[in-house]
Amino acid sequence: MIRNSTKTPARVDRRFRPSRKAELIAGGLIVLAMLVLFALVRPTSDAASPSSPDWLTYSDFSQDMPTISTAERVGTITRRAQASDVLEVLGASGEDADNAMDALRDTGLLSRSKLAAGTVLTAYFDEAANEGLGELVSVSLRADPRTTLLATRKPDGSFMTSTLTARVFDGTRRIAGTIETTLADALTAQGGPQDLAGDVAALFPDDTQLALGGRKGERFDIVYQVAEDERGNVLETGDLLFAAYNGKQSNGSWYRFEPSDTGRAEFYNRQGSTQKPLLTRYPLGYAQISSGFGRRLHPVSGLLLLHSGVDFRAPIGTPIYAAGDGVISQMGWGDGYGRQIFITHKRDFETVYAHMSGFNTQLSPGMSVKRGDLIGYVGNSGTATGPHLHFEIRENGRYVNPVSLNLPSGRSLARNPEEMDKLREQISKIDTLRGATGPLTTARLTTMTIPTNP
Ligand SMILES: [Zn+2]
Repeated sequence: MIRNSTKTPARVDRRFRPSRKAELIAGGLIVLAMLVLFALVRPTSDAASPSSPDWLTYSDFSQDMPTISTAERVGTITRRAQASDVLEVLGASGEDADNAMDALRDTGLLSRSKLAAGTVLTAYFDEAANEGLGELVSVSLRADPRTTLLATRKPDGSFMTSTLTARVFDGTRRIAGTIETTLADALTAQGGPQDLAGDVAALFPDDTQLALGGRKGERFDIVYQVAEDERGNVLETGDLLFAAYNGKQSNGSWYRFEPSDTGRAEFYNRQGSTQKPLLTRYPLGYAQISSGFGRRLHPVSGLLLLHSGVDFRAPIGTPIYAAGDGVISQMGWGDGYGRQIFITHKRDFETVYAHMSGFNTQLSPGMSVKRGDLIGYVGNSGTATGPHLHFEIRENGRYVNPVSLNLPSGRSLARNPEEMDKLREQISKIDTLRGATGPLTTARLTTMTIPTNP
């Protein structure tokens, strides 16, 4: 009869299941970490930092590191096993585990979430030390996609830490394909970030089905920025640069471009126009803002409250125009708001107009309005200290700042030859990326090591 003779306690298997990929990445990081440590320590071998007499010198390092036979062990923090527990299960003494983790925490670079379940710890052990029982030599973990923290044992048994910043490159990725279930699924299936699906849908605001994921058989093509390491592993996803969609309701291509005059990056089509804005921020046309969005002392109650909209000062009777195409969902009297109108728009936007003196009497709830239609007149009904329009924009039921809300500008570059040339340049750059095989990258940051706990 064959008996299971594994030396590893069964609970280790249950609790710590690092993926092979994570092991490889972690292994690569520790090798990188050691190389960088050598690079850092070598030039300063004779000149230990004056403020840190304990600083590990090159000679210490060379005596210790190359001679020991180390074993790499990888564990994952779970909800029940904290970092030091994981190290103990991997084989560290309780004291070493605590000292190493204390040193890493003392860097101030580890928030609670960075020590949360799922965080991978890579530990190296000197298997021969401690009369064959083994001894923790170093432990590393990723503080963020670009930063790895390393705690290394000093001869006196305490741990010193270093911060390793990965070499990061700007790159781009392209994903093109056909939707089977949803756009997000199609992006994930090709190793892309699913959250870009929402950005793509926002470029086709008339397509209600695309907002829900799109239809089977519809085609897409996107290019987006990434930060990647030198092996091409994506560390972070950046901005969407291009999106084309070909479906039942939506057809078109949008290119991200930042005109130099405004410095505002937006999506333009090949003709040099942005999307038409869904809403205007200024339903009175030009009017002075007497109170902006945000927290303020309430003029009547004196309490610090969220001002949920923008107040436009204007004389009683000034016409108010619908901020966008939509349907009137409420029209009547609201506590505090006085005479009010609510309009629901596409993409879960809603606009609110309060303190009105009167309504456009041809309107009633349930009717459609177009952007710019007269809906009523400025007044001081409800709780108002003077005639003004209180205007709100709500997105998915949440108050947003009408002035700073990111809405398409509705701009055209067609009559600006200089900007149009730059846009064409950008378009041809992106089209080249779409045609190119494999990612194109440009080098940017360099490797850097900062001793954080000498
Ligand atoms: Zn107000």
